Amino acid sequence: MITVDLHTHTIASGHGSTATIGQMARAASERGLRLLGISDHGPATPGAAFSSYFQNLAFAPREHFGVRLLYGVEANILDGGGLDLDNSVLARLDYVIASMHRPPRSVIYHGRDDIEAYRDRNTKDYIEAMSNPLVRIIGHPDNSQFPYCVHRLTDAAAECKVILEVNEASLGPDGYHRVAGLDTEQNYRILIKLCKKKGIPLLISSDSHGPDRIGQADRALFLLREQDFPRDLLVNEHPELLSVPRQPLRSSQPAQTGPDTGALPLS
Ligand SMILES: [Zn+2]
Ligand SMILES: [Zn+2]
Repeated sequence: MITVDLHTHTIASGHGSTATIGQMARAASERGLRLLGISDHGPATPGAAFSSYFQNLAFAPREHFGVRLLYGVEANILDGGGLDLDNSVLARLDYVIASMHRPPRSVIYHGRDDIEAYRDRNTKDYIEAMSNPLVRIIGHPDNSQFPYCVHRLTDAAAECKVILEVNEASLGPDGYHRVAGLDTEQNYRILIKLCKKKGIPLLISSDSHGPDRIGQADRALFLLREQDFPRDLLVNEHPELLSVPRQPLRSSQPAQTGPDTGALPLS
């Protein structure tokens, strides 16, 4: 269990739950959470809320059932690296997670074509999204359907002070996406190792759609313990890391090769 869970979804995400913010807060309280973040999908997700929902979160309660509440968004990284909410809306939220999903992204990797073109395109789009100073967290950078260069991504995250996520839902039996032998757990092992080396904070999230899985993170915690990831870089232990000022991204880094490259899904 984690007591700070910043990636959760209500009915406003348009799938997976009919839960209200109040029902989410009650579940979080019953499980002993101290901080719950509501991060519904951005408007490009089919069935998700319009931008007016996110604007109105400014009037939502800051505490409910004894749990402190933050309000963010899981914005979609569109083709080309833009996001699906205007910066004027994003700026009013407590934090912005940016993630890749299809839809709205037009292309996913099925394991048949040359992976490098996909990797290059996705890496550029991740870095373009991170160049938006309102983006605080990259959500579930684990999905083998969206291969990317983990060296370039982590270089950029370290440079511009973006947090990366370890997503429990991705690691579950109904989670993402094992493509042509590519594997979510192995993707995370590489990512966690590089984040430890480069001093990049990680956020563990349940990505619970509705109340059922709020606070659940056993698989993610196992992977971090396995690599002895430092607690002082764990946002769940130190939520104040959310407030570290973002830095501008000078340029995207050239790809580095290393011992992790080889045939692994995220080179
Ligand atoms: Zn997502
Ligand atoms: Zn999510």
